[in-house]
Amino acid sequence: MTRKLIIAGGGIGGLAAAVALRRAGFEVAVCERAAAYRETGAGMSLWPNATRVLEAWGVLGALLERGEPVTRFNLRSARGGLISGLSMEGFSTPALCIHRTDLHRALREQLPADCLLSDRRLEGFDGHERSVVVRFSGGRDVEADGLVGADGIHSTVRSQIHGVQEPVYRGYCIWRGIAPEIPGLEKGHISETWGSGQRFGILPMGQGLICWYATRNCGPDTSDSPAGRKAEVRDLFRDWHGPIPQLIEATPEGDIIRNDARDRAPLRTWGKGRVTLLGDAAHPITPNVGQGACMAIEDAACLAKCASRTADLAAAFRDYEDLRRPRTAFIARQSRRIGAIGQWERPWIVRGRDLVTRVVLACSPHLRFNPIYAYEV
Ligand SMILES: Cc1cc2nc3c(=O)[nH]c(=O)nc-3n(C[C@H](O)[C@H](O)[C@H](O)COP(=O)(O)OP(=O)(O)OC[C@H]3O[C@@H](n4cnc5c(N)ncnc54)[C@H](O)[C@@H]3O)c2cc1C
Repeated sequence: MTRKLIIAGGGIGGLAAAVALRRAGFEVAVCERAAAYRETGAGMSLWPNATRVLEAWGVLGALLERGEPVTRFNLRSARGGLISGLSMEGFSTPALCIHRTDLHRALREQLPADCLLSDRRLEGFDGHERSVVVRFSGGRDVEADGLVGADGIHSTVRSQIHGVQEPVYRGYCIWRGIAPEIPGLEKGHISETWGSGQRFGILPMGQGLICWYATRNCGPDTSDSPAGRKAEVRDLFRDWHGPIPQLIEATPEGDIIRNDARDRAPLRTWGKGRVTLLGDAAHPITPNVGQGACMAIEDAACLAKCASRTADLAAAFRDYEDLRRPRTAFIARQSRRIGAIGQWERPWIVRGRDLVTRVVLACSPHLRFNPIYAYEV
C-alpha cells in the first residue's frame, strides 16, 4: 500500500522533499500556509553538492536554461585587489546562480498540481503508533503515515517537539538586490569583497541580471534608515571598487530586501516518532556559504533514500536524522565562522585577515571548500 506523507511548508525544502519522496514511491501532500505557491526574494547560488542531486531528479536542465553557471569565485579587498581566485570548474555538475523563483518553479513543475495545497497552516500534530494526525487551521485535520516539518526557521513542528526558541542573531544584516547587467563583468565570475565590518557580493544570475548582497555589522532588528534602503547601502559602499556603487545605483529601491543573519545551535535530535524536520526547520544556516537551500535539497535526497529502504517510517526518519545532523552542523559552523571573519572590523585585524586568507587559499585552494561541494548524499 502506498504510504502517505504530509509535508508542512512549500518552500524550497518542502518542494524538494516532495519531489524526492514521490520519486521513491510515496504519496505526498505539500501543505503551505500562504494562499499561493510563490517564492520571493533575490538570486541565490546552488553549489555542486546540490546541483548533483537536482540533476538526478531531472531538474538541472531547466535551471541551466534560466540561471548562469559559475566558473570562478574571486575574493577581493574593498579597493578591488584580488585576495584569492578559485576556479569552480571540474566538478561533475556546475555551480549555478539563479533567481529563487526559477528554482521554486522548476521543483513545482516536477509535481502534480493536486499535491500542492495552499492556505493550509499547520497548527500542530498528534503522533500515534501507526499514524500521525496533522491539525490545520480551520479544523481541517488530516491523518497520514508521517509528517515532514519543512516549515522554515520559525517552524511550528520544531516548536512542538523542542519548545519555542528564538533564532540566534549573529551581529550583522544583509541587503539583497537585483540590478541589470553592467558592462565589464565577466560571465560566470562571482565575487565577494571584504571590508571592515562590511562585505559585498556579486552574482551574475543569467537573463541579463546581477544579484548582489551587502552586509554590515549592526544590532538585531535595526530599522531601515529614513532615507531608504538604497540610500543607506549606497552611502555604506560609496568608496568601494567598481562596479559596486554602479550596481547599487542601478537597483530600484523596491527591489532591495533586508534580513538579519540568524541561525540556531544544532539540535541533538530532530524529530519524534513519525515526524521529522527538514531544511531551515531543522538547521537554519547563515548565508555565508550559500548552502541553506543546498542543505534542504541534500536533506530531501537523503530522507527519500532512508524512507524507501524500510517499512518502519519512524526508524527511517531516525536514520535520516543521524546521517544529516553531522553534515548540516558542519556546514552551519563553517558558515558562521566565515561570516564572523568576514565581518571583522578593526583595520589592522582586517589587513592581517586579508593577508592570511591570501596565503591559505594560495596554498590549498580547494581544501577548505571541497568538503562542502564534493559531498555526495
Ligand atoms: C540573505 C540570504 C541569502 C541566502 N542565499 C542562499 C544561497 O545563495 N544558496 C542557498 O542554498 N541558500 C541560501 N539561503 C538560505 C535559503 O534561503 C534557505 O535555507 C532555504 O530557503 C530554506 O528553505 P525551507 O524550505 O527550509 O524554508 P523556507 O524557505 O522558509 O520555507 C518554509 C515554508 O513553510 C511555510 N510555512 C511556515 N510555517 C508554516 C505552517 N505553520 N504551516 C504551513 N506552512 C508553513 C512558509 O510560508 C514557507 O513557504 C539564503 C538565506 C538568506 C537569508
